[in-house]
Amino acid sequence: MEHQTDVIVVGARVAGAATAMLLARAGLSVMLLDRERPGADTLSTHALMRGGVVQLMRWGLLDRIIAAGTPAITTTSFHYAHSDIDVAIKPSAGVDALFAPRRTVLDPILVSSAEAAGVDVRFGHRVVAVSHDLGRVAGVVVRDAQGVHRQLGARLVIGADGRHSTIARLVAAPSTHQARHTSAFTYGYFRGLPAGGYEWAYRPGGTAGFIPTNEHLTCVFAGHTPPRIGRGGPAVLQDVVAQASPVMGRRLRAGVLASPVRTFTGEPGRLRQAWGPGWALVGDAGSWKDPISAHGLTDALRDAELLARTVLDDPAGRAHCYQAFQRIRNRLTVPILEGSDEIAAMCWDDARIIELLRGLNQAMNEELETILGFDTGLTAMQDHRSVVPALLA
Ligand SMILES: Cc1cc2nc3c(=O)[nH]c(=O)nc-3n(C[C@H](O)[C@H](O)[C@H](O)COP(=O)(O)OP(=O)(O)OC[C@H]3O[C@@H](n4cnc5c(N)ncnc54)[C@H](O)[C@@H]3O)c2cc1C
Repeated sequence: MEHQTDVIVVGARVAGAATAMLLARAGLSVMLLDRERPGADTLSTHALMRGGVVQLMRWGLLDRIIAAGTPAITTTSFHYAHSDIDVAIKPSAGVDALFAPRRTVLDPILVSSAEAAGVDVRFGHRVVAVSHDLGRVAGVVVRDAQGVHRQLGARLVIGADGRHSTIARLVAAPSTHQARHTSAFTYGYFRGLPAGGYEWAYRPGGTAGFIPTNEHLTCVFAGHTPPRIGRGGPAVLQDVVAQASPVMGRRLRAGVLASPVRTFTGEPGRLRQAWGPGWALVGDAGSWKDPISAHGLTDALRDAELLARTVLDDPAGRAHCYQAFQRIRNRLTVPILEGSDEIAAMCWDDARIIELLRGLNQAMNEELETILGFDTGLTAMQDHRSVVPALLA
């Protein structure tokens, strides 16, 4: 075995880099592995909700996101078939704006913060197997870019490797909740499309969003059922946005497409069991929701902290602590999973979609309460590390 470390985290994006950073800040030895190259984009729009922004602020990272030219979002507008509603983002919980950094901005900031906290970060390393010892997961087998296999040992392996998680498959993590419907999305980046805030549109003919982001670009998405979105592309994007909101459709025609248009063909939401002997899952690996929720990133940041706190509070890795992690994750996530599942079915009228969005908003408020209830001991540990001895011994 090449290396023995406290924790190996598989997947160096939002969930994995945040979890690794928090554990390393608290003094654990952490290795963070990813099969990709650093800084790569990924298939995802990137609207953050308040809970996610609050956490980035508390971890000392929001200033870097702002310094990268990420615009402040100060309003959210909802366009329905028969009404439009503008909501100002009120100052609350220490933040007075939302942000939607590109993944090429957010993910590298989290990874470099993990590195600064002492995490051993290795890109180009694909996990292909887990190793076991006395009935527990005790490490991983990785294949590096040269095709060399290595066995790496750890007392805890965290799968933060996305919705098609290799770790979840290797440990046979069961699904505990399964959605029935899925949206598909097609999206691209436009210049010359002024949007002061988030804009969301909902009609049975389509859903759409404008998300202001870095480099003066606006991310524009269109969502509907997989057959309607098909293989996506600029024409489908324009057409479904116009169906979702004729006003947004007219504004979109005045913008200039500045990127390829990418398409997500759909996958129903699902929760997996979040832990077992020597392993845990965080982010999409354990908790995947329909992207119409625009909540996967905020959830991933929240669960990174919930899991890091669990690991640190309970060095012995006792089952009841991990059960509490899963219970809180599920309490906060199931309403979002179920609400977005019904939205994805695309069978609602104005009254019902407004009710469903209120339900999501209430779930986000409960999430924010939970985040605000975290004591700041862990998040404040930016520069000094307290050694946690005998983790999971
Ligand atoms: C079309 C679309 C739009 C979305 N829009 C939003 C939005 O507006 N707001 C929002 O909050 N969320 C949105 N989401 C959800 C969001 O993208 C996810 O919730 C988020 O990416 C989860 O982050 P993660 O770190 O858990 O996983 P990921 O971002 O999927 O990262 C997983 C990492 O694991 C690595 N990996 C996988 N397998 C291995 C392996 N075997 N070995 C080593 N490394 C491995 C991958 O290379 C990857 O880097 C959207 C998703 C989609 C598909």
